[in-house]
Amino acid sequence: MTHALHYGTGVFEGIRGNWNADQGAINIFRMREHYERLIDGCRILMLDIPYSVEDLCNITVDLVERNRHVSDIYIRPLAYKSEELVANLKLQELSSDFTLITVPFGNYLGSDRLRCCTSSWRRVDDPMIPARIKACGIYINSILAKTEATIAGFDEAILLNHDGHVSEGSGENIFMVKKGIIYTPPLEDNVLGGITRDTIMQLAGAELGMEVQARTIDRSELYLADEVFLSGTAAHLTPVIELDCRPIADGQPGPITSQLQRMYFDIVVGNNPKYLHWCTQVRQP
Ligand code: PMP
Repeated sequence: MTHALHYGTGVFEGIRGNWNADQGAINIFRMREHYERLIDGCRILMLDIPYSVEDLCNITVDLVERNRHVSDIYIRPLAYKSEELVANLKLQELSSDFTLITVPFGNYLGSDRLRCCTSSWRRVDDPMIPARIKACGIYINSILAKTEATIAGFDEAILLNHDGHVSEGSGENIFMVKKGIIYTPPLEDNVLGGITRDTIMQLAGAELGMEVQARTIDRSELYLADEVFLSGTAAHLTPVIELDCRPIADGQPGPITSQLQRMYFDIVVGNNPKYLHWCTQVRQP
């Protein structure tokens, strides 16, 4: 009878904990920011959960300790409408609940060189369902696109938005490098404000001294890009080597993508002292 099962009325997060054998610890990456985004989603969907961001972080550390993981893990919080009632579409009348699971997790995309296609499905538009939150029901949009792409033999789908501009992958943000500048679609183009996206934007500027611009991107610009890559908690940072059967540049992962990828991996496992503030270290027994 749970409302969210029938109507998709929930919001969730995908957080990674990265096992570091030398430290004997799991590094939970940018946990706070994930929970801030969850709370944003709760506000939009009128999900009333009795926890602050602080509380949610503490509960998560506690669960990761109790589950005694010694591998990379995926942390999945879910706030949802729990009312057991059919045919009520009024969020303000429905009770909410919260659940949290942690599971061992490895590679998500199954390839480190992605062949992608432009999806025939369009990304949801803000006045339909806001793409800026991780609402459960929205993932029908991503799932239709991912299914179409993989049945056709591609690794991932790139969705265009309502206006025909590039938005994102089914579960990743997208970046393009052209003439030494890094571009990614702005949030107004119906993309999730990815935490990996933000991490990459910060690193590209601070560590590589590169210009990073959030601006609208045309599909054909991706065909002509020097480099394209996807970013996400599950996907990490993964090069796209082909789009719609056209190789991106010479069809090999580009140098800036590879440099950012190395830096990112080092940081998420807690090996870069400068960015340890992004990692919550949970020592395992
Ligand atoms: N876009 C969509 C649609 C996603 O599901 C995800 C995964 N959360 C992302 C982008 C990447 O966001 P993040 O880097 O915060 O995982």
